Amino acid sequence: MKADPQMQLLVLDLAGVDAELLRIRHRLAHLPEDAEIAQLEQQLQTHRDEAVKAQIAAEDVKRETTRLEAEIGTMTQREEKDGALLRDGNLPAKALTELQHELGSLSRRRGVLEDELLEVMEQAEAVSADELRAGAMVTHVEGQIAEVTERRGRTADQADKDLVDATDKRAALAAKIDAGLLAVYDRQVSAGKVGAGLLRQRRCGACRMELDRSELSSIASAAEDEVVRCDECGAILVRTKESGL
Ligand SMILES: [Zn+2]
Repeated sequence: MKADPQMQLLVLDLAGVDAELLRIRHRLAHLPEDAEIAQLEQQLQTHRDEAVKAQIAAEDVKRETTRLEAEIGTMTQREEKDGALLRDGNLPAKALTELQHELGSLSRRRGVLEDELLEVMEQAEAVSADELRAGAMVTHVEGQIAEVTERRGRTADQADKDLVDATDKRAALAAKIDAGLLAVYDRQVSAGKVGAGLLRQRRCGACRMELDRSELSSIASAAEDEVVRCDECGAILVRTKESGL
């Protein structure tokens, strides 16, 4: 195949733009913000779990408080009733003794319950602090996620814009290249290879392999407009003054 040397240089430019396109696509697929967001989402889940745990604990403590207060209330009522009976003093001596006995045990039992209530109230304070802390952390991390998401949007927008620019640049370049030469180039690219490379310091610019002496001498003797391909990777080998042939 033959192609004007200037045309061959355009193919080299095309390979440069294609490399740029690959870099932009890679950038888009691996935005640092995505990893940041994933990490923050994990933190958020942990804090949400903590908040739910604290909420459940708070409900338990509340239920326990209500139970203890009700029991203490019942005790107090019975103590008041027994106290009134005792003050009336209309009971036989044996019944009075029993009543005093019962009052004593009611008071002891109430004392125990009141101690328990104090403990539960202390727990309530701790649990409420846990709830507040977890809630604040959830809000804080949600804020961080919103911030990173916004930054991600800007980074992605820039990459998208770069992608559009590079795609336009590619189309403009491709339009200038002979259909036959472009077809060779595109076949290479479709096969997942680099389409063209500059021959420099005996190496193929596409696959970096060093060419042997006989290959180099046959390339050196080929006409300027002859399209030379790399034996190793198939890329169009573009020769310039830098090729040192
Ligand atoms: Zn090569």
